[in-house]
Amino acid sequence: MDKIYLSKSRYCRAFQCNKMLWMDRFMSDEKDSESKESVFENGRKVGELAKGLFGKYVNIEYNEDLNVMVSETFKEMKNSPNVINEASFCFDNNFCSVDILKNDTDGVEIYEVKSSTHVTDIYLEDASYQYFVLKSLGYNVKKVCIVYLNKEYIRKGKLEPDKLFNIKDITEIAISKMEEINNKITEINEFMKEHPEEKVPNVKVGIHCVKPYLCDYFKFCLGKLPKNNVFDIPNMSFKTKFKLYSSGKVDFKDLRKEKLNKNYLQQIEFELDEKEPKIDVKEIKKFLESLSYPLYFLDFETFDVAIPEYDYTSPYMQVPFQYSLHYITKENGKLMHKEFLAEANEDPRRKLAERLVKDIPKDLCVLAYNMSFEKSVIKKLAKLYPDLSEHLLNITENMKDLMVPFRKRHYYARQMQGSYSIKYVLPALFQDDKNLDYHNLDLVHNGKEASNTFLSLKNMAEEEQKVLRESLLKYCRLDTYAMVKTFEKLKEEVL
Ligand code: SF4
Repeated sequence: MDKIYLSKSRYCRAFQCNKMLWMDRFMSDEKDSESKESVFENGRKVGELAKGLFGKYVNIEYNEDLNVMVSETFKEMKNSPNVINEASFCFDNNFCSVDILKNDTDGVEIYEVKSSTHVTDIYLEDASYQYFVLKSLGYNVKKVCIVYLNKEYIRKGKLEPDKLFNIKDITEIAISKMEEINNKITEINEFMKEHPEEKVPNVKVGIHCVKPYLCDYFKFCLGKLPKNNVFDIPNMSFKTKFKLYSSGKVDFKDLRKEKLNKNYLQQIEFELDEKEPKIDVKEIKKFLESLSYPLYFLDFETFDVAIPEYDYTSPYMQVPFQYSLHYITKENGKLMHKEFLAEANEDPRRKLAERLVKDIPKDLCVLAYNMSFEKSVIKKLAKLYPDLSEHLLNITENMKDLMVPFRKRHYYARQMQGSYSIKYVLPALFQDDKNLDYHNLDLVHNGKEASNTFLSLKNMAEEEQKVLRESLLKYCRLDTYAMVKTFEKLKEEVL
């Protein structure tokens, strides 16, 4: 086999694990299917915006034949000084496209653009690989930088790319990595030579499978594990999981003899012994007594995008666009419902905040599931709208968390599988109840799908929007309805 054709992303994948690159080449069908659509979309938008960071530029268009991109770049390089986006180079089968290349008469500067709000180690590898390629081709590389999003930036009026982006100079790091990268490329090529298509590499799973990114082939590489195994313990750190896994302690039967956190041991014990639910009546009563009627059940849906769309938003700030509110005015009273879903083409926050203070009167008990999220959303609205602030903050002050009895394990059933997320608690409390099964919803089944759906509405025809808006409403409605049912279930248990 000739030397493998590397690109910056392939190099980074192999940097995480050689087998990942091998899998991409020969067994990519084994990829886990989780959608990374929104991550790609954020990356694309950030890349587009960053292009103009240094003023006028030329763009090297993508071509399946990468040699065309290289020769186009070569032509543009002659017009220095200039800025070339996607400037493409190849040294000894090591290809790279530089996001932004400042091409001066006395040398070049490399700018790698990331849609993240911080610089991670793998970004350093990415940019250093590009330095290696250009330096090996004989260019005088004056600077290597990472361009990333400034978390502190708050949009006011027109976007200001020079303030939205931070630039970190990593030239010294890139220089220091030259030899390391050369060795890594040799290692990758040897690895690929030693593992032709028919020879699946035998690489042990470990922390490299989840850091810096969860590998797409994790399920494949774990292979067949017992039904209840160490990877089924939701809150255990990967470090501990891999430690147990590598010492052969995988099955719950083996793990129950280990010195583990009491919650993990409880999950294991409940599963192996098929125990009945544990219900701490005294504690649940205490929790229920802390609530009062009228009782409201609130849930928000939010989106977060890399590039702030509206005034007074920052990169990846949670922007609420929808809520569902069930409420009961008195003990055993009728269940009522209100909801809000913003229009797709405007900043949703003002209308949402106004509706919220109308829908939830002051000094009433409001239940949320994992209330820190709902509280933080409302507090941001209060900061933004001083005229509504007092009422909004009053809502947060009267908020109670329905997750507490489950997080504290005052109610625990083995079907919760060690988790206190509503998505696990619900099927455990209401087995086979179709009305409470998120799988039975159309189109929108979870928060990520909800935010992607809302963001996609803008570009749709009215009829199409109508269908999706109905799905969004149904989804959010189920969130608060599920809370009502959960609350009722707790009440039944302590009667
Ligand atoms: S799951 Fe782990 S061992 Fe398998 S390809 Fe991914 S990183 Fe490598």
